[in-house]
Amino acid sequence: MSQLLLGAHVSVAGGLHLAAARAREIGATAVQVFTKSPNQWREPKLDDAAVARFRESVKANGLLAVVSHDAYLINLASPDPVLWRRSVAAFRKELERCSRLGIPYVVTHPGNFHDDLEAGLRRNAAAYQRCLQAVAGPSILIETTAGTGTALGWRFEELARLRRLIREPWRRRVGFCADTCHIYAAGYDLARDFDGVWKEWDRIIGLRHLRCLHLNDSRYPLGSRRDRHAWIGEGELGPEPFRRIMRDRRFDSVIKIIETPKGDDPVRHDRRMLRRLRAYASNRRPSRKEP
Ligand SMILES: [Zn+2]
Ligand SMILES: [Zn+2]
Repeated sequence: MSQLLLGAHVSVAGGLHLAAARAREIGATAVQVFTKSPNQWREPKLDDAAVARFRESVKANGLLAVVSHDAYLINLASPDPVLWRRSVAAFRKELERCSRLGIPYVVTHPGNFHDDLEAGLRRNAAAYQRCLQAVAGPSILIETTAGTGTALGWRFEELARLRRLIREPWRRRVGFCADTCHIYAAGYDLARDFDGVWKEWDRIIGLRHLRCLHLNDSRYPLGSRRDRHAWIGEGELGPEPFRRIMRDRRFDSVIKIIETPKGDDPVRHDRRMLRRLRAYASNRRPSRKEP
Protein backbone atom coordinates (compact mmCIF):
# COMPACT_ATOMS: atom_id res chain seq x y z
CA MET A 1 0.00 0.00 0.00
CA SER A 2 1.33 3.43 -0.87
CA GLN A 3 1.90 5.85 1.96
CA LEU A 4 -1.11 7.89 3.03
CA LEU A 5 -0.95 11.61 2.36
CA LEU A 6 -3.21 12.52 5.24
CA GLY A 7 -3.22 15.50 7.55
CA ALA A 8 -4.93 18.64 8.73
CA HIS A 9 -4.98 22.38 8.47
CA VAL A 10 -2.87 23.42 11.44
CA SER A 11 -2.09 26.69 13.14
CA VAL A 12 1.11 28.62 12.44
CA ALA A 13 0.82 30.61 15.68
CA GLY A 14 4.31 31.42 16.93
CA GLY A 15 5.92 30.91 13.52
CA LEU A 16 5.45 29.00 10.27
CA HIS A 17 8.04 26.42 11.26
CA LEU A 18 5.88 25.27 14.20
CA ALA A 19 3.23 23.87 11.86
CA ALA A 20 5.24 20.80 10.92
CA ALA A 21 5.72 19.72 14.52
CA ARG A 22 2.01 20.26 15.15
CA ALA A 23 1.22 18.08 12.17
CA ARG A 24 3.47 15.33 13.43
CA GLU A 25 1.93 15.55 16.88
CA ILE A 26 -1.48 14.62 15.47
CA GLY A 27 -0.08 11.80 13.35
CA ALA A 28 -0.23 13.63 10.02
CA THR A 29 1.91 13.02 6.94
CA ALA A 30 0.50 16.07 5.14
CA VAL A 31 -0.32 19.57 6.28
CA GLN A 32 -2.13 22.72 5.18
CA VAL A 33 -1.16 26.16 6.48
CA PHE A 34 -1.89 29.83 6.07
CA THR A 35 1.37 31.53 5.23
CA LYS A 36 -0.07 34.79 6.60
CA SER A 37 -2.94 35.96 8.72
CA PRO A 38 -5.99 35.07 6.56
CA ASN A 39 -8.22 37.92 7.74
CA GLN A 40 -5.77 40.76 7.07
CA TRP A 41 -4.29 42.38 3.99
CA ARG A 42 -1.04 43.07 5.78
CA GLU A 43 1.83 41.06 4.27
CA PRO A 44 4.24 39.44 6.71
CA LYS A 45 7.99 39.84 6.59
CA LEU A 46 9.52 36.52 5.75
CA ASP A 47 13.29 36.55 6.06
CA ASP A 48 15.64 33.88 4.75
CA ALA A 49 16.18 32.41 8.21
CA ALA A 50 12.44 31.84 8.66
CA VAL A 51 12.26 30.23 5.22
CA ALA A 52 15.13 27.90 6.08
CA ARG A 53 13.58 27.04 9.45
CA PHE A 54 10.32 26.14 7.73
CA ARG A 55 11.96 23.95 5.11
CA GLU A 56 13.99 22.13 7.75
CA SER A 57 10.98 21.56 9.97
CA VAL A 58 9.05 19.95 7.11
CA LYS A 59 11.89 17.53 6.53
CA ALA A 60 12.59 16.88 10.20
CA ASN A 61 8.97 16.00 10.88
CA GLY A 62 8.74 13.65 7.94
CA LEU A 63 5.94 15.45 6.11
CA LEU A 64 5.28 14.16 2.61
CA ALA A 65 3.03 16.97 1.38
CA VAL A 66 2.50 20.64 2.21
CA VAL A 67 -0.19 22.92 0.82
CA SER A 68 -1.06 26.50 1.64
CA HIS A 69 -4.51 28.09 1.66
CA ASP A 70 -5.00 31.62 0.39
CA ALA A 71 -6.34 34.45 2.56
CA TYR A 72 -10.09 34.98 2.99
CA LEU A 73 -10.11 38.64 1.93
CA ILE A 74 -8.90 37.86 -1.57
CA ASN A 75 -11.64 38.10 -4.22
CA LEU A 76 -10.18 37.49 -7.65
CA ALA A 77 -13.63 37.68 -9.26
CA SER A 78 -14.51 41.07 -7.82
CA PRO A 79 -16.16 43.62 -10.16
CA ASP A 80 -14.56 46.39 -8.08
CA PRO A 81 -11.26 47.19 -9.84
CA VAL A 82 -9.61 48.39 -6.63
CA LEU A 83 -10.44 45.23 -4.71
CA TRP A 84 -9.57 43.10 -7.73
CA ARG A 85 -6.09 44.63 -8.05
CA ARG A 86 -5.52 44.37 -4.33
CA SER A 87 -6.55 40.70 -4.48
CA VAL A 88 -4.24 39.99 -7.41
CA ALA A 89 -1.33 41.60 -5.54
CA ALA A 90 -2.08 39.54 -2.42
CA PHE A 91 -2.45 36.31 -4.37
CA ARG A 92 0.77 36.94 -6.19
CA LYS A 93 2.51 37.48 -2.85
CA GLU A 94 1.05 34.17 -1.68
CA LEU A 95 2.57 32.39 -4.67
CA GLU A 96 5.90 34.11 -4.05
CA ARG A 97 5.96 33.04 -0.41
CA CYS A 98 5.10 29.48 -1.35
CA SER A 99 7.81 29.45 -3.97
CA ARG A 100 10.37 30.48 -1.37
CA LEU A 101 9.03 28.08 1.24
CA GLY A 102 9.04 25.14 -1.15
CA ILE A 103 5.26 24.72 -0.92
CA PRO A 104 4.13 23.28 -4.27
CA TYR A 105 0.38 23.94 -3.99
CA VAL A 106 -1.81 26.90 -3.09
CA VAL A 107 -5.44 26.02 -2.43
CA THR A 108 -7.60 28.92 -3.54
CA HIS A 109 -11.27 29.78 -3.20
CA PRO A 110 -12.77 31.15 -6.39
CA GLY A 111 -14.16 34.63 -5.77
CA ASN A 112 -17.63 36.14 -5.53
CA PHE A 113 -18.85 37.55 -8.80
CA HIS A 114 -21.50 39.95 -7.37
CA ASP A 115 -22.74 41.16 -10.77
CA ASP A 116 -22.51 38.66 -13.62
CA LEU A 117 -21.44 35.02 -13.47
CA GLU A 118 -19.57 34.83 -16.77
CA ALA A 119 -17.83 38.17 -16.20
CA GLY A 120 -16.82 36.93 -12.75
CA LEU A 121 -15.34 33.74 -14.16
CA ARG A 122 -13.34 35.79 -16.65
CA ARG A 123 -12.02 38.16 -14.01
CA ASN A 124 -11.14 35.22 -11.79
CA ALA A 125 -9.31 33.37 -14.55
CA ALA A 126 -7.47 36.50 -15.69
CA ALA A 127 -6.26 37.03 -12.13
CA TYR A 128 -5.01 33.45 -11.80
CA GLN A 129 -3.25 33.68 -15.13
CA ARG A 130 -1.57 36.96 -14.27
CA CYS A 131 -0.21 35.56 -10.99
CA LEU A 132 0.92 32.25 -12.52
CA GLN A 133 2.72 34.22 -15.22
CA ALA A 134 4.43 36.42 -12.65
CA VAL A 135 5.61 33.69 -10.28
CA ALA A 136 7.23 30.47 -11.42
CA GLY A 137 6.85 27.31 -9.40
CA PRO A 138 3.78 26.67 -7.28
CA SER A 139 0.58 25.30 -8.76
CA ILE A 140 -2.83 26.52 -7.73
CA LEU A 141 -5.60 24.20 -6.63
CA ILE A 142 -9.02 25.74 -7.16
CA GLU A 143 -11.31 24.67 -4.34
CA THR A 144 -14.93 23.66 -4.80
CA THR A 145 -17.24 26.00 -2.92
CA ALA A 146 -20.62 25.49 -1.24
CA GLY A 147 -22.06 28.18 -3.51
CA THR A 148 -23.16 30.60 -0.82
CA GLY A 149 -24.31 33.95 -2.24
CA THR A 150 -22.49 34.64 -5.50
CA ALA A 151 -19.50 32.41 -4.81
CA LEU A 152 -18.10 30.89 -7.98
CA GLY A 153 -17.03 27.29 -8.22
CA TRP A 154 -19.86 25.25 -6.74
CA ARG A 155 -20.89 23.70 -10.04
CA PHE A 156 -18.37 21.40 -11.65
CA GLU A 157 -18.98 23.21 -14.96
CA GLU A 158 -17.80 26.51 -13.44
CA LEU A 159 -14.63 24.91 -12.12
CA ALA A 160 -13.85 23.34 -15.48
CA ARG A 161 -14.52 26.63 -17.24
CA LEU A 162 -12.26 28.55 -14.87
CA ARG A 163 -9.41 26.25 -15.77
CA ARG A 164 -10.11 26.39 -19.49
CA LEU A 165 -10.10 30.20 -19.43
CA ILE A 166 -6.46 30.10 -18.32
CA ARG A 167 -4.13 29.78 -21.29
CA GLU A 168 -1.36 27.24 -21.75
CA PRO A 169 1.27 26.80 -20.54
CA TRP A 170 -0.03 28.28 -17.25
CA ARG A 171 -3.07 26.05 -17.33
CA ARG A 172 -0.78 23.14 -16.57
CA ARG A 173 -0.25 24.60 -13.10
CA VAL A 174 -3.97 24.63 -12.35
CA GLY A 175 -5.53 21.71 -10.49
CA PHE A 176 -8.38 21.29 -8.02
CA CYS A 177 -9.13 20.73 -4.37
CA ALA A 178 -12.48 19.05 -3.70
CA ASP A 179 -14.03 19.75 -0.32
CA THR A 180 -16.50 16.99 0.59
CA CYS A 181 -18.61 19.32 2.73
CA HIS A 182 -18.78 21.98 0.02
CA ILE A 183 -19.58 19.50 -2.76
CA TYR A 184 -22.42 18.06 -0.72
CA ALA A 185 -23.77 21.47 0.28
CA ALA A 186 -23.61 22.43 -3.39
CA GLY A 187 -25.98 19.56 -4.20
CA TYR A 188 -23.72 16.68 -5.21
CA ASP A 189 -24.87 13.66 -3.22
CA LEU A 190 -21.66 11.99 -2.07
CA ALA A 191 -23.63 10.08 0.57
CA ARG A 192 -26.10 8.30 -1.69
CA ASP A 193 -24.47 8.54 -5.11
CA PHE A 194 -20.73 8.39 -4.47
CA ASP A 195 -19.84 6.81 -7.80
CA GLY A 196 -22.17 9.08 -9.74
CA VAL A 197 -20.62 12.24 -8.30
CA TRP A 198 -17.06 11.20 -9.12
CA LYS A 199 -18.12 10.03 -12.55
CA GLU A 200 -19.55 13.47 -13.16
CA TRP A 201 -16.39 15.08 -11.80
CA ASP A 202 -14.32 12.97 -14.15
CA ARG A 203 -16.52 13.77 -17.15
CA ILE A 204 -16.65 17.51 -16.54
CA ILE A 205 -13.36 18.34 -14.78
CA GLY A 206 -11.17 15.24 -15.08
CA LEU A 207 -10.11 13.15 -12.10
CA ARG A 208 -6.46 13.58 -13.06
CA HIS A 209 -6.70 17.25 -12.11
CA LEU A 210 -7.78 16.44 -8.55
CA ARG A 211 -4.73 16.96 -6.33
CA CYS A 212 -6.22 17.63 -2.93
CA LEU A 213 -9.29 16.63 -0.92
CA HIS A 214 -10.63 18.56 2.02
CA LEU A 215 -12.25 15.87 4.12
CA ASN A 216 -15.01 17.50 6.13
CA ASP A 217 -18.45 16.29 7.07
CA SER A 218 -21.33 18.74 6.69
CA ARG A 219 -23.55 20.26 9.35
CA TYR A 220 -26.16 21.19 6.75
CA PRO A 221 -28.09 19.00 4.32
CA LEU A 222 -27.60 18.27 0.65
CA GLY A 223 -27.99 21.33 -1.53
CA SER A 224 -28.19 23.73 1.44
CA ARG A 225 -25.46 25.92 -0.12
CA ARG A 226 -24.21 26.47 3.42
CA ASP A 227 -20.65 25.84 4.49
CA ARG A 228 -20.33 24.47 8.00
CA HIS A 229 -17.94 21.63 8.69
CA ALA A 230 -18.67 18.70 11.00
CA TRP A 231 -16.57 15.88 12.41
CA ILE A 232 -15.93 13.02 10.02
CA GLY A 233 -18.87 10.62 9.95
CA GLU A 234 -20.87 12.70 12.41
CA GLY A 235 -22.60 15.10 10.03
CA GLU A 236 -25.05 14.83 7.16
CA LEU A 237 -22.55 12.89 5.03
CA GLY A 238 -21.97 10.13 7.58
CA PRO A 239 -19.05 7.68 7.55
CA GLU A 240 -19.64 5.93 4.23
CA PRO A 241 -18.32 8.48 1.72
CA PHE A 242 -15.16 8.92 3.81
CA ARG A 243 -14.69 5.17 4.04
CA ARG A 244 -15.04 4.98 0.27
CA ILE A 245 -12.56 7.79 -0.32
CA MET A 246 -9.96 6.28 2.00
CA ARG A 247 -10.23 2.91 0.26
CA ASP A 248 -10.43 4.11 -3.31
CA ARG A 249 -7.16 3.70 -5.18
CA ARG A 250 -8.00 6.59 -7.49
CA PHE A 251 -7.44 8.87 -4.50
CA ASP A 252 -4.19 7.28 -3.26
CA SER A 253 -1.99 10.08 -4.56
CA VAL A 254 -4.45 12.85 -3.67
CA ILE A 255 -3.45 14.90 -0.60
CA LYS A 256 -6.14 14.58 2.09
CA ILE A 257 -6.61 17.39 4.58
CA ILE A 258 -9.17 17.71 7.37
CA GLU A 259 -10.62 21.07 8.36
CA THR A 260 -12.95 19.70 11.01
CA PRO A 261 -13.92 21.52 14.21
CA LYS A 262 -11.02 21.67 16.65
CA GLY A 263 -13.16 22.33 19.73
CA ASP A 264 -11.19 23.39 22.77
CA ASP A 265 -8.46 20.85 22.10
CA PRO A 266 -7.13 20.89 18.51
CA VAL A 267 -4.56 18.16 19.11
CA ARG A 268 -7.05 15.73 20.58
CA HIS A 269 -9.75 16.28 17.97
CA ASP A 270 -7.49 16.35 14.93
CA ARG A 271 -5.68 13.25 16.12
CA ARG A 272 -9.01 11.52 16.67
CA MET A 273 -10.26 12.42 13.17
CA LEU A 274 -7.05 11.25 11.48
CA ARG A 275 -7.12 8.02 13.45
CA ARG A 276 -10.68 7.46 12.27
CA LEU A 277 -9.74 8.04 8.63
CA ARG A 278 -6.72 5.77 8.88
CA ALA A 279 -8.94 3.04 10.30
CA TYR A 280 -11.22 3.40 7.26
CA ALA A 281 -8.19 3.07 5.01
CA SER A 282 -6.69 0.05 6.72
CA ASN A 283 -9.88 -1.97 6.39
CA ARG A 284 -9.47 -1.74 2.67
CA ARG A 285 -9.88 -4.99 0.82
CA PRO A 286 -7.27 -5.07 -1.93
CA SER A 287 -9.03 -6.03 -5.12
CA ARG A 288 -12.69 -6.44 -4.36
CA LYS A 289 -15.02 -3.65 -5.32
CA GLU A 290 -16.91 -2.00 -2.50
CA PRO A 291 -20.66 -2.46 -2.73
ZN1 LIG B 1 -11.96 23.40 2.39
ZN1 LIG C 1 -15.75 25.10 4.16
